[in-house]
Amino acid sequence: MEDSSKPRNPHCLVLSYPSQGHINPMLQFSKRLLHKGVKVTLVTTKSISKTLHGSSSCTSIALEAISDGFDDGGIGAAGSPEAYFERFYKVGPESLSELVERLISGGPPPICIIYDALLPWALDVAQKFGLVGAAFFTMSCAVNSVFYHCQKGLLEVPVRKQVLLPGMPPLEPQDMPSYVCDLESYPTFFRVLVNQFSNLDRADWVLCSGVYELEQETADWFMKLLPFRTIGPTVPSTYLDNRIEQVNEYGLSILKPDHDTTMKWLSTKPKGSVVYVSFGSVAELRIDQMQEIAMGLKRSNCYFLWVVRPSEAEKLPQGFAKGTETSQKGLIVTWCRQLEVLSHEGVGLFMTHCGWNSTMEALSLGVVMLVIPQWTDQITNAKYIMDVWRMGLRPLADKERGVVRSEEIVHWIREVMEGERGKEMRENAGKWKRIAGEAAGEGGSSDRNIDEFVAKLGGKTL
Ligand code: UDP
Repeated sequence: MEDSSKPRNPHCLVLSYPSQGHINPMLQFSKRLLHKGVKVTLVTTKSISKTLHGSSSCTSIALEAISDGFDDGGIGAAGSPEAYFERFYKVGPESLSELVERLISGGPPPICIIYDALLPWALDVAQKFGLVGAAFFTMSCAVNSVFYHCQKGLLEVPVRKQVLLPGMPPLEPQDMPSYVCDLESYPTFFRVLVNQFSNLDRADWVLCSGVYELEQETADWFMKLLPFRTIGPTVPSTYLDNRIEQVNEYGLSILKPDHDTTMKWLSTKPKGSVVYVSFGSVAELRIDQMQEIAMGLKRSNCYFLWVVRPSEAEKLPQGFAKGTETSQKGLIVTWCRQLEVLSHEGVGLFMTHCGWNSTMEALSLGVVMLVIPQWTDQITNAKYIMDVWRMGLRPLADKERGVVRSEEIVHWIREVMEGERGKEMRENAGKWKRIAGEAAGEGGSSDRNIDEFVAKLGGKTL
């Protein structure tokens, strides 16, 4: 029988927006909480939970799902982002409330909801039940600052000239998150990102998957305004407790990784010789961009490992077949365990779209980058990788055609793999790897922030 006099571990619900780039950092944060004695239930949507492969890789993290109104198909079934968010904002609060009620009566009752900042209505649900409400941002401090300024009316949109924001380098329009400069193409995403800040003054905590030392002045600025804390990098690593996590994977993925094929292929390659190419879980490349990348990789004569999701595969040129080693010294896979790949010594360069998770993973594992951002925050992340942390280069797109040409790709791959710039970037990457590791390690800035969060939870009972 359970000893009722013994204090129970506090129980947190961690609610993630249903996409890979949100589930990964929130699952990893959940594992950190668990490590510090917190019971965690990770909540996603019914539609994405049907497609996830693997498990939380940690039996003590329970998984639950709420409805977004599109239980079969999610955003893809909604017809448009607008229809999706409208319905999710209606159905989500009810569905989350039902879950909270069930857990309150069936136990253990939650005392806190850590909610993805894209779902700000979850704060109302937390407060309705008298729970702690903690917003969780899966983008950088810099990008959050841009949308914060938009929400407060402090930034004129669409941005047409250089912008100076506290603690940040001057940002030209071409460095800004795409929605801020192009309101017409993505009105819903712009609104959703701005809306993250609409009720934030009521949140008990504002957690950000950035690293204090990487964006110190912006983080300091946010901390003066809000109960803001950095808790990144949200990357599992050997500096954390191996008993509670798989070292090099998150555990839940939208596609099944071609793991054995990938690792077998990588294991035969010399140290630092492979270009790893991935554009994440969402970006859709133009067909001519895919073909230029393919030609660039082929002409570079380097080994390459390229993740091409099934929905993108038909854009590949002839001769670039999935699964088998092609005549171009490359391997194309549907999905991989990216952390395992990035930490493999065969990988010398990451050609990336600069999603915030991919950026933090490469930085935390000390891998230099060739950046080809596509949209949203990726553009600002690319600017930081190049000009602030100086551990990556950005091949420029051809002005006429709007794509990065194969010649550029070959030139910059060689520059990084063999040239002086590559050497300097690798030195910087080593420094940032150490700093990110220290932030997450015991007594580091993020670790202390998580301790503070957990200590305050400990004092709260339902
Ligand atoms: N990822 C992975 N395997 C792949 C490609 C990506 O595990 O083959 C993971 C990657 O490690 C990262 C996430 O998917 O954690 C992608 O998030 P990110 O923010 O980089 O980009 P998004 O997919 O949101 O555009």
